[in-house]
Amino acid sequence: MSRRRCSKPSCNGAAASTLTYVYADSTAVLGPLATYAEPHCYDLCQMHSERMTAPIGWEIVRITPDPDALKPTSDDLEALADAVREAARPRYQPDAEPPPLPSGSVEVARRGHLRMLTSVDLPEVPLDQLFDEDFEPR
Ligand SMILES: [Zn+2]
Repeated sequence: MSRRRCSKPSCNGAAASTLTYVYADSTAVLGPLATYAEPHCYDLCQMHSERMTAPIGWEIVRITPDPDALKPTSDDLEALADAVREAARPRYQPDAEPPPLPSGSVEVARRGHLRMLTSVDLPEVPLDQLFDEDFEPR
């Protein structure tokens, strides 16, 4: 496929990746073999790619080509992060609609966030009785 060779002197290995120096960021980017040989890019064989060390004060960013193709894309990761944030969001929202009533219940009174419920199966209790001071809920 590629006839390019490792840039290291005395190495005759086939080029496996391309090293690019980003001088502004003091970063060496070791990535997939570049399509075209460019100035400031150095092709490295597999062995020298793995052994490569950055000059003092430089960082190496390794971009592994093939295995990453099977991993989730950054879009997938963003979607996952959004889902996690969504799940972590507090459930209680003061202005939101109250949750559905339990089945078999009807709402008979509401005071702020407190709701008084009664079961439709129970004998009906007059509303005024519900608010009597000595009313004991069952
Ligand atoms: Zn080499």
